[in-house]
Amino acid sequence: MISVDEARDRILAFFGRLPAERRPVLDALGQVLAEDIVAPFDIPPLNNTAMDGYAVRAADTAGASAASPVELTVVADLAAGYVLETAVGAGQAVRIMTGAPIPPGADAVVPFEETDEPPRGVGEAPARGSKVRVFKAAEPSANVRFRGEDVAQGQVVIPAGRVVRPSEVGVLASLGVVEAPVYRRPVVAILSTGDEITVPGEPLLPGRIYDSNAYSVGAQVRKLGGIPRLLGIARDTVEDLTAKIREGLDADMLVTSAGVSRGDFDVVKDVLAREGAIDFWSVRMRPGKPLAFGAFEAPGGRKVPHLGLPGNPVSSMVSFELFGRPAIFKMLGRSDWERPMVRAITRDRVRNSDGRRFFARCIVTRGDDGRWYASLTGPQGSGMLTSMSAANGLAVIPEDTPEALPGDEIGVIMLDWEHAP
Ligand code: AMP
Ligand code: MG
Repeated sequence: MISVDEARDRILAFFGRLPAERRPVLDALGQVLAEDIVAPFDIPPLNNTAMDGYAVRAADTAGASAASPVELTVVADLAAGYVLETAVGAGQAVRIMTGAPIPPGADAVVPFEETDEPPRGVGEAPARGSKVRVFKAAEPSANVRFRGEDVAQGQVVIPAGRVVRPSEVGVLASLGVVEAPVYRRPVVAILSTGDEITVPGEPLLPGRIYDSNAYSVGAQVRKLGGIPRLLGIARDTVEDLTAKIREGLDADMLVTSAGVSRGDFDVVKDVLAREGAIDFWSVRMRPGKPLAFGAFEAPGGRKVPHLGLPGNPVSSMVSFELFGRPAIFKMLGRSDWERPMVRAITRDRVRNSDGRRFFARCIVTRGDDGRWYASLTGPQGSGMLTSMSAANGLAVIPEDTPEALPGDEIGVIMLDWEHAP
């Protein structure tokens, strides 16, 4: 038997970052930037106003107060998106909307609230030459956003290697970028095997079960940023299995489920061994001891890594979480595949008598005392997928810990921590 860590190290050694591509910025969400993003211009491109109000010469408003307002002549009305060429002269003001460039001559903006700006209907401009009274002196630069204050032309705005999040998507768009240079998403071909496995949508014959593995693992792949490609179900015959595997060899990774455990009826092991260079491992973990890993040779000689997951639905998900997830991250160019872990107090007794690392499905909640508490989701059979569905974490009971008792502190891998549990 090998340890979880050794299995992961051996698997990860096989994977590398995929080539870069250009993707529409919104589609690049979750991908990693392959190049520094350099600003082609300043942001904001011009000095502009942060407030709706009047662009003025600050000096004109010196000494203004409610008791002795300064009266200015309104010479123009300027919306965002338009540029005023004529300068604001002494005693003049330009009515101006947030985002509009500060007209030449003006150096400050007096918000409407500090004037006698009358209420107006939408689109109702003040009469040219009308007067506005200013009740407060403006400092020079008041309410002015300066050209380049966010981003200066030539600056590296986002460095290569950064994961694209919604804020990066926004920054890229603000720079006018249409397609972002990112490392390609891995295509993961997923094949279910077994004579008993039926595609959802088809009638369920006696003795058969629906394929859940392809869907749960496909969803894991998609959530991690990969592209799942379901190959369907291979019957337990050499011919069918060989043909279906070949269909998956244009992918970046092939994932199969079932047929890798000892004493199987399946022909999966024979075919895998014959068609590729595959190792069958017993990994010191529960659920999911049997695991296969190796490579198939695609036409042209390219090596396609193959992860052979155990058939039991929980085992296949947990094994993919531990071994498939880091592989996908590595192909995406990400190294941050470690999940957040919390130290939680177990409410249940968790037994772990066979010297393996036990990943127990549990629900983590915060107690009134502010500490984290973990409760098992119920029976831990590796065929019970609903127990996985009820969980938000996997409690990790180490190989050398035969049991954890209620009140003991245990480590829990948080599976879904993008939001508060
Ligand atoms: P095996 O690894 O072939 O011995 O399968 C172990 C268990 O997992 C058996 O009960 C199978 O019926 C079940 N199983 C295998 N493949 C799937 C699948 N794609 N979806 C749901 N259960 C499966
Ligand atoms: Mg089987």
